[in-house]
Amino acid sequence: MQNSASNKKKIPERKCLGCNESKPKKELLRVVRMPDGTVLLDFTGKKSGRGAYICRNIQCFKKARKSKRIERNLDCVIPEDVFDALEAELVKDG
Ligand SMILES: [Zn+2]
Repeated sequence: MQNSASNKKKIPERKCLGCNESKPKKELLRVVRMPDGTVLLDFTGKKSGRGAYICRNIQCFKKARKSKRIERNLDCVIPEDVFDALEAELVKDG
């Protein structure tokens, strides 16, 4: 019997909206739209709401911002000042 692969744990992966690569969820940064419409960075991955994923780097964030993929993914319009705040937070974190 060849079952060597069957006991491998499946790691949940998400696609980065910047570089389009699939990576383990915990390596990515979650941008969440809260039920009240607030958009923020979720560094813990535990906030409830609709989430979009990007790598924890500013290049991917900027790409995702420019291409409007975050907004499309979250199905909402994100004001420039919110984007600026998220970007500042990401720079501070990294
Ligand atoms: Zn990326």
